[in-house]
Parts: sequence; C-alpha cells; structure tokens
Amino acid sequence: MTRLKPRDTIGILGGGQLGRMTALAAAELGLRTLIYQPERDGPGFDVATETLTGAYDNQDRLAQFAARCDVITYEFENVPAATVDFLDRLKPVRPGARMLSVSQDRLAEKTFLSEIGIPTAPFWSVDSLKELEVAVMALGQPSVLKTRRFGYDGKGQVLLRPDVALPYAYDQIGAAPAILEGFVPFVCEVSVIAARGLDGAFACYDICQNEHRNHILYQTSVPAAVSPATAAAAVEIARKVGEGLDAVGVFAVEMFLVREGASERLLVNEIAPRVHNSGHWTIEGADTSQFEQHVRAVAGWPLGATTRTGNRITMHNIIGAEVEDWHAIVAEPGAHLHLYGKSEHRPGRKMGHVTRIARTLA
Ligand code: AMP
Repeated sequence: MTRLKPRDTIGILGGGQLGRMTALAAAELGLRTLIYQPERDGPGFDVATETLTGAYDNQDRLAQFAARCDVITYEFENVPAATVDFLDRLKPVRPGARMLSVSQDRLAEKTFLSEIGIPTAPFWSVDSLKELEVAVMALGQPSVLKTRRFGYDGKGQVLLRPDVALPYAYDQIGAAPAILEGFVPFVCEVSVIAARGLDGAFACYDICQNEHRNHILYQTSVPAAVSPATAAAAVEIARKVGEGLDAVGVFAVEMFLVREGASERLLVNEIAPRVHNSGHWTIEGADTSQFEQHVRAVAGWPLGATTRTGNRITMHNIIGAEVEDWHAIVAEPGAHLHLYGKSEHRPGRKMGHVTRIARTLA
C-alpha cells in the first residue's frame, strides 16, 4: 500500500475550486500536486505545483500523467470509469473504482444503500415511458424523476407534480436511463462530511444543515438543528457507507431530515465521493480542513482531528454577480473570504465562499 513522503506528488483529475483547495492543502503538508483536465485553465491551475492538459480518454496523456504522480485522486464524480480503470493499473487511485461507480449512478447508489440497511426515498428504475407509467402507479405524484447519471445541482431531474404529463417529463430528461423517487416532505437537508484512511480509520465532522436556492447550495450552518440522536445516526450512516464502499479519502453523504411529531428520521439522498461544498466551513471551522483530511487519507497518512473551532459556523456561497461585493466581505472583521480566481461571473456560477465563526466567550 503506497504511503507518500513529503515532496511526493498527488495527481488530481479536475482543476475546479475543489482541486484548487486540495492543492493548497497538499502544499501546506509539503506535498506536490499535478492537476489534469481537458481545459487549458481553471481555478486549480493558479495553485497546483504542475498542470497537464489532456482529454479523459487520451491514454498517452493519461499515462504521462500517471508516470509523474505517486497517487491519484479526483475532484468530481463524473470522471469516466474507463479513465479511472486505466489509471488504476498504473498508480493507486483513491477513492477506488467501487466508490466512484456507485456514486455515479443513482440506481446503483440507492440499491447499495438499501442493501446495507440505510433508508432512502422509495425508488423505481425507469428505462422507458412504459416503466415510468408503472413507477408512477407505485409511487404516485408528486415524485421526482432523475437521470441515473450526470445529474448535479438539480440538472437532469423533473418534479412530477400531479398535473405533469409523463411523456413531457420523460422528454425533459432526454429519455435517459432514470429513476423515479417518491417525494420526501423533508424539513431540511443535512450532510455529513466524513473520511476514511488507508488503514480503515474513520473520522467525521459535525452534521451540516444546508439551504439550497435554485438547486444550488446557498448556505451551510453547523451544527445542524437536529437532536443528538439524529446527529449520532448521521455519523453511523457515514461510517457504514465508508466501510461498504471501502472508501479512502473524504466523502459526503447528503440526507433529508423528516420530522413526524417529536421523532426525526434521516433518508439518504446522495453520496459524493469527494470533498464537498457543504464542508468548506472546515477550512477555518475545524482542526483539520476537509481538504487536508483528504490529502492525509489519499497519502496514507493518519487522519486529523475534526473538532469544531467555534460554537456556530456558517458558510455562504458567493454565486454569480454577488462576487462584486467582495470588498465589503473582505472588510468585515472575522469573515473568511475565499475567491476561486474565476475570470468571469455568470448566473449560478460558484465564485467563492465566505465562512463566519461565532465563538463562545470564555
Ligand atoms: P439531487 O440532485 O438529488 O441532489 O436533488 C436536488 C434537490 O432536489 C435536493 O437538494 C432536494 O432539494 C430536491 N429533491 C431531490 N430528491 C427529492 C425527493 N425525492 N423528494 C423531495 N425533494 C427532492
């Protein structure tokens, strides 16, 4: 099992903001990074030790990339499985193929969760309009139709309100292989950021409460307003997911919180096999950031402490034109501003984030 030494190189597939913050964390630990992606520029390119541009199916280029790395990781779950299979024969890829393949496919993901006894929304596989009709008979309307693959930030999904015509809805998702999920009347959305080390050690941050606007994460607050029993259940879910998928690295589990009277229930919505937007608060808000934790895990180093540094922490995403207010945020005492160095803003584009920590007075 490869363990890295200082000055060894972590290869990162993808050079967006997650690759950027991972590269920064690696540099602090004396590790080098090589970012690989098809685009010639990206937030990660400003800070990685080295960069290499190439397509995800260009085997010559991928082989050059692998030759220059000691271990390989990725910042997004839609890396083609064939790319990871190819690279894994040359250098260890962490997290491995199983974590990636399950989290790339909503049907495989929900099937895995059910098999290990973790509750999800009821779901039904949909491969044709006929199957959609059958699924709707079972789950009713409202329900949510989602493509099995390549969905993110609400893309590739349609809410089937009672008046939505099924042929229209199926057309909206491009008649792609899909699942239909029962509609969950959740009170809030929460997530857990966890990590598993090369030796199987497990570490988990406090449960996060996430507010979305237009399907994009708007704000994360920590700790989430849930009972201690629910917080403990969330950690247990993350532990089972990490073990079940033999994870090495940071991963996130997104869940819905359902309240029935005084009782609370968690239903898992998604697993992200990577550092996660709802974990950005850990940069200043925890003893070890999620990015450092990921670097430690993929390097085969011990995991760091996940203790919160403040009483109450909020992380706010800076989206689109909001970035023009950067000077007000940077002038705010105690606000931790992170800008990703993107050259232009567009509606819905994540430009940066700001973390605010409320500490209790001694
Ligand atoms: P997803 O792409 O699965 O993360 O879904 C995007 C958003 O749609 C979630 O953050 C929820 O707000 C909403 N959503 C997804 N699935 C369901 C569901 N089964 N029931 C209710 N809302 C859902």
